[in-house]
Amino acid sequence: MKNIIVNPNSITINKTGSWRVFKPKTNFKKCVSCGMCAKICPENCIKMIKKSSILKPKTDYNYCKGCGMCAVECRVHAIEMRIDKDI
Ligand code: SF4
Ligand code: SF4
Repeated sequence: MKNIIVNPNSITINKTGSWRVFKPKTNFKKCVSCGMCAKICPENCIKMIKKSSILKPKTDYNYCKGCGMCAVECRVHAIEMRIDKDI
């Protein structure tokens, strides 16, 4: 029988994106590049990437589980949680 508990440090093989019901959508016009979403994401799936000389968040949806913490913590409300149409 296969274990359902995963080993520590297995985040890269455990693609938590399949758990998602809601998907975060970032409005880059509102984003002030503070990086808070990247710091608090429990799956560490938001990276701050340079876009025309300023940093903007990029979400890896293979690992985003749709918890909504990034949307709650974004102080300028640049992240909106929407129903994931891929489910
Ligand atoms: S928390 Fe909001 S403002 Fe800050 S980088 Fe993320 S999306 Fe942009
Ligand atoms: S919804 Fe949760 S898992 Fe997905 S990017 Fe935001 S904080 Fe990370």
